[in-house]
Amino acid sequence: MSFAPITTLQEQIEQLDAKGLRRRRRTTATACAPNLMLDGQRVLSFNSNDYLGLAADARIAAALHEGVSLYGAGSGASHLVSGHSKAHEELEERLAAFEAPHLEQARALYLSTGYMANLAVLTALAAATPGETEIFSDALNHASIIDGTRLARAQVTVYPHSDVAVLDAALAASTAKTKIVVTDSVFSMDGDIAPLPQILALCERFGAWLVVDDAHGFGVLGEHGRGALEHFKLRSPQLVYMGTLGKAAGVSGAFVAAHETVIDWLVQRARPYIYTTAAAPALAHALLSSINIIDSREGQQRRDQLELLCHQLSAMPVRQGWSHLASATPIQPLIIGGNAEVMAAAQALEAQGLWVTAIRAPTVPVGTARLRITLSAAHTHDDVARLLAALGQLAQEA
Ligand code: PMP
Repeated sequence: MSFAPITTLQEQIEQLDAKGLRRRRRTTATACAPNLMLDGQRVLSFNSNDYLGLAADARIAAALHEGVSLYGAGSGASHLVSGHSKAHEELEERLAAFEAPHLEQARALYLSTGYMANLAVLTALAAATPGETEIFSDALNHASIIDGTRLARAQVTVYPHSDVAVLDAALAASTAKTKIVVTDSVFSMDGDIAPLPQILALCERFGAWLVVDDAHGFGVLGEHGRGALEHFKLRSPQLVYMGTLGKAAGVSGAFVAAHETVIDWLVQRARPYIYTTAAAPALAHALLSSINIIDSREGQQRRDQLELLCHQLSAMPVRQGWSHLASATPIQPLIIGGNAEVMAAAQALEAQGLWVTAIRAPTVPVGTARLRITLSAAHTHDDVARLLAALGQLAQEA
């Protein structure tokens, strides 16, 4: 028996295939680390967001075991029913203290994912003034921010990437009661950093919130790894900070840190926080040891190593038509252009035992398909040298 909607889906997937846009998952069989087993083959990977090399850290894994023995496997309910544990509470206190230099009356809220944290912040802040909210969003913001703006039932103005002049004019023209500017700090597919000091100055001038998605900055930027706010030495009660804990922190989840009233409001109104089962307390317990590492001398040494590796990669060989978006962050994209070309480049690297994922539209604009190379403090200089040699060979082959 045939069911027409299934045929429709099959046709759509075939169309994606024909355009070189079909997505496929790859399966790894070992812990997240530069050297891993991919579909039965040993490869050197430059894909993860495990920037500090903590995802497989034995001390954090031991803390996770300890958390399981203390709190069991699951939380059993949402935070507002009976799922809020001492482990969640301790993590939130630790994170609030960590970001306190940059916020006033700081409190933090732990959520299951960064995706949900962005939905939570944008929908809840907009809900304070229904029909009278305008959100100003950078054109290259992450998909979870885009979805948050859609769910917020607010007017949405997308400004050109990091264009402070256009943002200034848009804020000046707005009559909305609540204005929210939202931006990635480190853009996930380009690796560049938003001009946060200028954006915050505008927010202060026009009385707007500034929501900063620091998914790729938390743990990496700033002397103590506090992220983008520390990097730029910002402090304001208008800041709403979102950091993820599945990237540099090596575990999973995310947090929002802001003025205590904002956090209280999220607990009242943020549906992606309220209507979901709390993450396992053991994860929060493990994250405490991860934050301790980020905040230590060892954390600083890991950030130093990452900086040295980024510097080494700046000598990336390119051929005509390619461009290396050399950034000050561990996200180092090599723009190849077309879908077929980027897939061929990824396959050529894989034939040499190097795994770098190709990123295509709609994740990035059409015609800017790229190898999104990411570095981790767990990489060695020899690892980066191997990648540079392979890219050099690729650049020479016409
Ligand atoms: N924001 C940005 C900028 C991201 O890159 C990501 C993850 N790729 C997220 C939010 C979502 O975070 P999570 O993976 O914890 O859902």
